[in-house]
Amino acid sequence: MNYRGPGRVRAEEKPMPEILHPEDCIVKVLRSCICGSDLHLYNGNVPDTRVGSTFGHEFVGEVVELGSEVNKLKLGDKVLVPFNIACGKCSFCRQGLYGNCHESNPEATAVGGIFGYSHTAGGYDGGQAEYVRVPYANFGPTVIPVGMDLDDAVMLTDVVPTGYQAAEMGGIQPGDTVVVFGAGPIGIMAAKCSWLFGAGRVIVIDHNEYRLEFVKNYAKCESYNFKSIEDPVQFIKKTTDWLGADVCIDAVGAEAAGSAMQTITGRKTLMQAGSATALFWAINSVKKGGIVSIVGVYGPTGNLVPIGNVLNKGITIRANQASVKRLLPKLIDHVQKGTIKPKALITHRMPLRNVSDAYRIFSDKLDNCIKPILIPPT
Ligand code: NAD
Ligand code: ZN
Repeated sequence: MNYRGPGRVRAEEKPMPEILHPEDCIVKVLRSCICGSDLHLYNGNVPDTRVGSTFGHEFVGEVVELGSEVNKLKLGDKVLVPFNIACGKCSFCRQGLYGNCHESNPEATAVGGIFGYSHTAGGYDGGQAEYVRVPYANFGPTVIPVGMDLDDAVMLTDVVPTGYQAAEMGGIQPGDTVVVFGAGPIGIMAAKCSWLFGAGRVIVIDHNEYRLEFVKNYAKCESYNFKSIEDPVQFIKKTTDWLGADVCIDAVGAEAAGSAMQTITGRKTLMQAGSATALFWAINSVKKGGIVSIVGVYGPTGNLVPIGNVLNKGITIRANQASVKRLLPKLIDHVQKGTIKPKALITHRMPLRNVSDAYRIFSDKLDNCIKPILIPPT
């Protein structure tokens, strides 16, 4: 796919990617997903998103070419590729902060390299394509275990680790009440994973009825429409004996998705009411001394954050891009044991050439879409 400017993506022929470094490999893509993070790009809200770039940070595929120094993979291996591009060796990677790798994006002050995520995240082309160049191939790509469904595998590149890390950063203690804002794939997975940490009650807030229904069944939790409960903060306080939730998770971010956004100058814009409200609500409805875990993606500014309430309530805020490679061993195990069944979230399976329709359906939350998957030609 090719980004043509805000709201416009197209399927177009591009040159084959090439090995640029001896530790690169080339992967023939078998499945790639569209993520809520792609919507920030699609809507033109991520700085330095260049026309002509290819998005896609959630993909699995087959290794078809190896750089001369790749010794951990062989041709024909089927791999799942973490969305973070990480060298595995720098000081951040050595701490397990693979989303903050220095080598893969040395000019950035914040994020490490990410496939298909603008020049802010290193300028790497992504996997919504037939072929993709994968750097640091001795570290990132992980051979898909025999017998694992590719649809499950592709969800391990981002959605499962991000949902899991959202719950992990929440520091959930046995019996805790956890409130998750956002019932997109990430919020759904965060709700599911909250139980693994011993939550006693899990509540999800969104306004898409079909997603609220889905998460209630999939994650066996409560779910509420913020448009029908008037003030979510009061609602959460009331249902927690006026104490507030132990943990709040923001799985919305600078909401790039359809109907909750105000539209200014014809496009959905960053930091409008439907978006920053999730973080605002999270801070205001967590208990004093509680934890707010943010996985929703924001632009660099945070001027809508009620920072005074953070101080006065003594709240801890934790946030990051998920560190996929760190979490993979235990999450592969959960998928193999069936405690997490990620492919259930995939509602749409479309040919790569229909990428433009797929973005529209996912962005505007049409046709009960939760997670769309793109299939390149064989
Ligand atoms: P999505 O667009 O499918 O889902 C977002 C959901 O939030 C939608 O269902 C929307 O209706 C809901 N929403 C909007 N405003 C809300 C509000 N005020 N309160 C509650 N719900 C609200 O996106 P997704 O794929 O689930 O991703 C969610 C967020 O996670 C995005 O910001 C994405 O960029 C981010 N993300 C972060 C990481 C990471 O590593 N930190 C990885 C993947 C995705
Ligand atoms: Zn993603």
